[in-house]
Amino acid sequence: MSNQQATSVPAIQTKLTNPNLTYKEIRVMKDKGTEPPNSSEFLLNEKNGVKGKYFCKNCNSLLYDSTDMFESGCGWPSFHTSSSSIPSENADTTYTDNSMGMKRTEVCCLNCDSHLGHIFKGEGWERILGKGKGNRYCINGISLNFEKEK
Ligand SMILES: [Zn+2]
Repeated sequence: MSNQQATSVPAIQTKLTNPNLTYKEIRVMKDKGTEPPNSSEFLLNEKNGVKGKYFCKNCNSLLYDSTDMFESGCGWPSFHTSSSSIPSENADTTYTDNSMGMKRTEVCCLNCDSHLGHIFKGEGWERILGKGKGNRYCINGISLNFEKEK
């Protein structure tokens, strides 16, 4: 087999600074991968009444509060908004993502640009939940650190 020339890849802005990230975490946060559905340890936090705050696993910026979380049944931790207690909606830097044959809006950490997941709008969650703006932040739990409320 001959050595292939390096193919050009799009510039990746994400700068992972946490040296403790695992291969799986880097696959999601830098390479914009997706964790398997129903694999997140945080998936049932809302259902089980586990309260706390969610931080970016790379840079530790505060992203979501457990009061933002809801059970959407989609298989990934879901949040209806960035918490009002979180300044400047840290998790709301979005990019259009045309991969997987779908046009989706990517959600990235505002501070370090790590990929977190995707945002889906107009699904009617504000009516179902009685709060929020109808957004569903579909987030890879693997990109989050959780700090349980004491
Ligand atoms: Zn970050």
